[in-house]
Amino acid sequence: MTRKYDYDLFVIGAGSGGVRASRIAANYGARVAVAEEYRVGGTCVIRGCVPKKLFVYASHFSEEFEDAAGYGWTVEPASFDWKTLIANKDKEIDRLNGIYIRNLERSGVEIIASRAVMKDAHTVHLVGERRDVTADKILVATGATPFKPHTVPGIEHAITSNEAFHLEELPRRMIIVGGGYIAVEFAGIFNGLGVETMLTYRQDKILRGFDEDIRDGLMVEIRKKGVDLRTHTDIAAIERRGGKYLATMRDGAVIETDLIMYATGRVPNSEGLGLEEAGVRMKKNGAVEVDALSQTSVPNIYAVGDVTDRVALTPIAIREGHAFAETVFNGNPTAVDHSIIPTAVFSQPEIGTVGLTEHEARERFEAVDIYKTSFRPMKHTMTGRDEKTFMKLVVDARTDRVLGVHMMGPGSGELVQTVGIAVTLGATKKQFDATVAVHPTAAEELVTLREKWQPAAAKAAD
Ligand SMILES: Cc1cc2nc3c(=O)[nH]c(=O)nc-3n(C[C@H](O)[C@H](O)[C@H](O)COP(=O)(O)OP(=O)(O)OC[C@H]3O[C@@H](n4cnc5c(N)ncnc54)[C@H](O)[C@@H]3O)c2cc1C
Repeated sequence: MTRKYDYDLFVIGAGSGGVRASRIAANYGARVAVAEEYRVGGTCVIRGCVPKKLFVYASHFSEEFEDAAGYGWTVEPASFDWKTLIANKDKEIDRLNGIYIRNLERSGVEIIASRAVMKDAHTVHLVGERRDVTADKILVATGATPFKPHTVPGIEHAITSNEAFHLEELPRRMIIVGGGYIAVEFAGIFNGLGVETMLTYRQDKILRGFDEDIRDGLMVEIRKKGVDLRTHTDIAAIERRGGKYLATMRDGAVIETDLIMYATGRVPNSEGLGLEEAGVRMKKNGAVEVDALSQTSVPNIYAVGDVTDRVALTPIAIREGHAFAETVFNGNPTAVDHSIIPTAVFSQPEIGTVGLTEHEARERFEAVDIYKTSFRPMKHTMTGRDEKTFMKLVVDARTDRVLGVHMMGPGSGELVQTVGIAVTLGATKKQFDATVAVHPTAAEELVTLREKWQPAAAKAAD
């Protein structure tokens, strides 16, 4: 029997979504190949979540050394070596890259180290190998890429998160542009590593889309830690002067710095992929349009992960990749539920959040109760550090269901994973209250919040 196509499935992009889809499809017996133009593992493993978190760990030590004094420790004047961090980080990323390659191979997936572009609905051109291959189904899992505003003169001098992982030297001063989670995380990283860090954002508050209390609270805390956070401002032009850069701000101020990093969002990685030519409908921002089962307007072409611009997070790309393979290669149509997504921001302090913000809840529900608290974590009663932990529950007053939980403080990222279970299961405030507290922890506040929060004006009128 001659087979019509070279492969049952050809996957473009070996990142979070592509790797999962390839492995699951191959496990169901499909003949699968995946093309990767950079490194297997994708953004998250190679230049996203993983190296970022390692940097976050590195940056925490400066505070730990300071805080140790309150507990009786004397720490020799500590020093930091950027090159050691980079070398060790690279070693760990190489290790993970190897694991991803081995796992794909073990599942019987053929890895092709090449850029791949579509030629038609069933044909992929392998740019690096100058040959075409055919497949019954094609999965686009090409992720996203950092966006830099090319209208800013001198923008070519600015780096993005991609380069931040490979800097030769740690700069003395740095400007980070942006207000999203990547900008905020890198501001914490570089500030913690001793870089004079300025974070500029053109809107009034960082972390758009997060609960307002979290946005306000984090702005206060990161300023306390020494990040020079400037809102309502933006860089108008960049000029290189020797080894330094001059950033001319919109208000005319000129700031000298050693490095400028843009973290002003990410755009779907779809340019030049030949998707439109193959008849795939795209959104204005370059995202691939898909239905709930990740199918595009061309029935045998699917897309998952950041390139679809649904929710740009690794666990979501993985789920979408898995659901695709389940749907197409196991005959079990599976849609990913994007409605409740626990997530963390590895800012300093850390943020953990799940479910609706207060603002979203008030828009969707008739009556909403808010429970919240802000306190100095126990550890800092002895360190003297002025840092607040914050917790907030958003509750549907009619059904008592907890609609959202928003936290800022050490360990919030870990905490929101477990509290995310309760919120996903539809737990009520009464069930939170019925849960025995773990003492002494910060987390116990989540089950001991008794008093509904009332705006000051309403309280005064009581
Ligand atoms: C700095 C940073 C920090 C992050 N931190 C977190 C975090 O803490 N938690 C979290 O959940 N998410 C985080 N993310 C987001 C996360 O990395 C992405 O959501 C996730 O990687 C998306 O997976 P994906 O499969 O869609 O794409 P990717 O993982 O980006 O994989 C796409 C792959 O396709 C390859 N590719 C692209 N075009 C082609 C082509 N034409 N031919 C061949 N190969 C191609 C790329 O090289 C890449 O390897 C972070 C991202 C960044 C940038």
